[in-house]
Amino acid sequence: MEESTGNSGASPRERPDKNINFSDPELFKGLLKHGFNTIISRRLGSAREVPDARNKKCLQKHYSLHLPSASIIICFYNEEFNALFRTVSSIMYLTPEYFLEEIILVDDMSEFDDLKEKLDYHLEAFRGKIKLIRNKKREGLIRSRVIGASHASGDILVFLDSHCEVNKVWLEPLLSAIAKDHKSVVCPVIDVIDHMTLEYKPAPIVRGAFDWNLKFKWDHVFSYEMDGPEGPSKPIRSPAMAGGIFAIYRHYFNEIGQYDKGMDLWGGENVEFSLRVWMCGGQLFIIPCSRVGHISKQLSEMNPEIKKAISHNYLRLVHVWLDEYKVSSTSLLWSNV
Ligand code: UDP
Ligand code: MN
Repeated sequence: MEESTGNSGASPRERPDKNINFSDPELFKGLLKHGFNTIISRRLGSAREVPDARNKKCLQKHYSLHLPSASIIICFYNEEFNALFRTVSSIMYLTPEYFLEEIILVDDMSEFDDLKEKLDYHLEAFRGKIKLIRNKKREGLIRSRVIGASHASGDILVFLDSHCEVNKVWLEPLLSAIAKDHKSVVCPVIDVIDHMTLEYKPAPIVRGAFDWNLKFKWDHVFSYEMDGPEGPSKPIRSPAMAGGIFAIYRHYFNEIGQYDKGMDLWGGENVEFSLRVWMCGGQLFIIPCSRVGHISKQLSEMNPEIKKAISHNYLRLVHVWLDEYKVSSTSLLWSNV
């Protein structure tokens, strides 16, 4: 497995401060509430430059100016204001205007005050490109994405979490892969934004998979798979997606029935959607030349509501897709609930 190379784009001034004061009660408040260091997030503010994480081979690629357009859908629930705003501003700064149909934000009925008028006010800076939809009740991530997609008019839907930062030339490789095959569903490499330092760390090229508990995991990409003329810039076929960040042709998303709208809150939808794609004539790829950073939140305890939703969602997926494999899988599932 080859680590991506690439020049380090951030100047020392823009690097996150690693001198963390662990006795600061503010730090613990932020970690409990959001699962990451909100002091550094506030300090980074609305935008920063992140290191170019791409392999050298990617820099030789040229993309057509006539690619399909993208609607970017970001659902959020009680997100930290700065992380959400950096997600939007990084897209605005690093996406060519002519490919960007719109950014659709779906507020899944957040309770935090700064996600109300303050957010409306700050988004004015990007007026014309942003649609903000506020759910009237908490729908959960899965139905919120479907709601976002129903307002989209771009050719391609790109889903992102609300605590991401996109990298240089992140969108073109995704659009270009789908333009070649409308049934390809494509994911960038998800770089890690450290939850404590918010440092942007390039991730190795890995593929998504799952075990018999249906638990998502990352799996190796063998070096021989990256031996060809394209080297480590070649798309990698992937059994499953991590869930948060991917692109799909809008008509294909509708054709395969979108998501399972009976799934609640969060969890399991990534494996369900992966099986749906592979069983409905599509293919899933990781596109190594597209890179998006994601804050790997560390929340100490899972909310019981979410735990319940996960069991419910996994059971739905087992009954819908696993046919004769369902006995072994459900017994494992129940032993873990
Ligand atoms: N989310 C949402 N409604 C929910 C739960 C989550 O809109 O009920 C959003 C959340 O704000 C985030 C995305 O869905 O933008 C994915 O959730 P999260 O980041 O917690 O998932 P993870 O990255 O841990 O898989
Ligand atoms: Mn996330």
